[in-house]
Amino acid sequence: MNVWMADEVTVVARRLIEPGEEICGDYAVWESTPSYIVDPCQCGSALCRRRFSGDDWKREDLQARYKDHFLPYLNRRIAREQEATGQESTD
Ligand SMILES: [Zn+2]
Repeated sequence: MNVWMADEVTVVARRLIEPGEEICGDYAVWESTPSYIVDPCQCGSALCRRRFSGDDWKREDLQARYKDHFLPYLNRRIAREQEATGQESTD
């Protein structure tokens, strides 16, 4: 995945994107409708989960990978849940 969110409306590159390279983002950073399912995903990423659901933003591995680059309301929900469960920030 080479893009993620900078704020509620801005998609930014998370690394250099080569000319002609496909722009590809993980739905987890902007989708939170639990019934939203993509199966099978055909993005071709080595990190692809093959199946996406609107609950994927709740996964701790993805919260660590995309820290602070979800949509802002999801960043806030993640921070609240981590506070409630006493999880350490990964800063
Ligand atoms: Zn995929």
